[in-house]
Amino acid sequence: MIQTYDVIVVGLGAMGSATAYHLASRGARVLGIDQFAPPHDQGSSHGESRIIRQLYYEHPLYVPLVQRSYELWRKLEQDAAQPNLLRITGGLMLGHETSGLIQGVRRAAEEHRLPFEEIPSSRLQERFPQFMPSAGMRAVLDPEAGFLDPERCIAAHLSLASAHGAELKMGERVIEWTTVGDGVRVRTTQGSYEAGKLVLAAGPWVSELCGNAGPLFSVEKQTVAWFQPPGERSIWTPERFPIFMCEFEDGQLIYGFPLLSRGWKAAVHYQGEAVTNMRDVRRTADAHDLARVRTALARLFDWVKEAPLLNSETCFYTNTTDLQFVVDFLPGMPQVLVSSPCSGHGFKFACAIGELQAQLLLDGKTSFDVSPFRIDR
Ligand SMILES: Cc1cc2nc3c(=O)[nH]c(=O)nc-3n(C[C@H](O)[C@H](O)[C@H](O)COP(=O)(O)OP(=O)(O)OC[C@H]3O[C@@H](n4cnc5c(N)ncnc54)[C@H](O)[C@@H]3O)c2cc1C
Repeated sequence: MIQTYDVIVVGLGAMGSATAYHLASRGARVLGIDQFAPPHDQGSSHGESRIIRQLYYEHPLYVPLVQRSYELWRKLEQDAAQPNLLRITGGLMLGHETSGLIQGVRRAAEEHRLPFEEIPSSRLQERFPQFMPSAGMRAVLDPEAGFLDPERCIAAHLSLASAHGAELKMGERVIEWTTVGDGVRVRTTQGSYEAGKLVLAAGPWVSELCGNAGPLFSVEKQTVAWFQPPGERSIWTPERFPIFMCEFEDGQLIYGFPLLSRGWKAAVHYQGEAVTNMRDVRRTADAHDLARVRTALARLFDWVKEAPLLNSETCFYTNTTDLQFVVDFLPGMPQVLVSSPCSGHGFKFACAIGELQAQLLLDGKTSFDVSPFRIDR
C-alpha cells in the first residue's frame, strides 16, 4: 500500500536533515529517505569540522543568512542538548590587498557594518606565531568566525526531526520519482510513497535525481588532510589557533582548523578532480592528491612539507557555474524543490536553509530573499 506524506525529503545530510527537522517541528507529515545512514562519510558533510564566518567574502548577500544560522545553531545546541556544535575561535583571513578574499571581506564588513580587526604584519608574529605569510600579505581577523561539528549537527537535526514525528528511512535508495497531479510519487529500493511535495537534497548525487529537468551541477573531489603539528601542542588548540583562509595566489585558497581529536586539518579550496559518476568514484586520497595539499599548505606553514600525516579523506563539492547555491523548484514543477546549497561553502547555512525551505514548502514564501539562488538566475 502506498503511504502518503506532506513532504518527502530525499537525502538526510546537512540540508535534508535540517529541512526535515524544520518541516516536522511545524507539524508537517514528513518522510525522510537516505541511501546510507547519516551522518556518514560518503558525501559532502563529514570530517569533524566546517568553517563558519561572518565576513562573507563570496558576497555580502550571505551575511544575513549566516547571522540567522548562528542563532539557529545555538538554538539547536539547546534544543538537542548538544553543547559545542559551534565553537568560536575567530578567523584569520590572509591575502594580498587586491585578492578576492581580502577585498570581499572588506566589502562584507562595510556593507553590513560588521566588526573586524586588521592585524599589521609587524604584529602578526606576536599574535599568531603559527602563521608565516609571505611579504606584503594583509591579515584581517573575523571575530565571529569559528567551526561547526558537522556529524553532530546532522545527528542533532535528525534526532529532533524524529522527535517531532518525522519518519526517517535509512539505507533506502530513491530510484525514481514522478509527478502525480500536483503531488509526487517516489519509488525506492524498498517501496513507493506519495506526497504533496518533494525535496531533492541529495548533495553530490543531486544531478542523478534531477535528470534533464535540473540545473547544471559539477561535482569536484576534495582531499582533506590531518597532520601532526610541530612544537607545543597548546598553540594549535581552539583556544589559541583560529580557523584560517589564505589566498596565496590569485584565486588559489587554502583553509584550516585548530587541532582537534584527529589532528590539525587543512586543505585546498576547489581545484579538485572532476567527478562524473558518484558510483565508481575513487574515495581514497592518493600520493599525488596529498602532495598537492602539502605543497599548497607549505605556502603558509613550511613544516607541512615533512609533517607526519595522521589522516586523510575525500569529500565532494557540488558546484554551480557561479559557485552560488540552488534553492528553487524545478521548472514547471512547483511541488519539487531542489536543495543544493554547496559549491564548497554551504554547511554553515544548513540550519537556516532548512528553515527557509520549510517556509517555501509550507508558506510559499520566505523570510529571506532566495532569488539569488534561483535556477534561472
Ligand atoms: C572537504 C569539504 C570541506 C567543506 N568545508 C566547508 C566549510 O568549511 N564550511 C562550509 O560552510 N561548507 C563547507 N563545505 C560544504 C558543505 O560541507 C556542503 O555544502 C554540505 O555539507 C552539503 O550538504 P548536502 O546536504 O547538500 O549533501 P550531503 O550531506 O552529502 O547529503 C546528501 C545526502 O543525500 C543522500 N542521497 C543521495 N542520493 C540519494 C538517493 N538516490 N536516495 C536516497 N538518498 C540519497 C546521500 O546518501 C547523502 O546522505 C565543505 C565541503 C567539503 C566536501
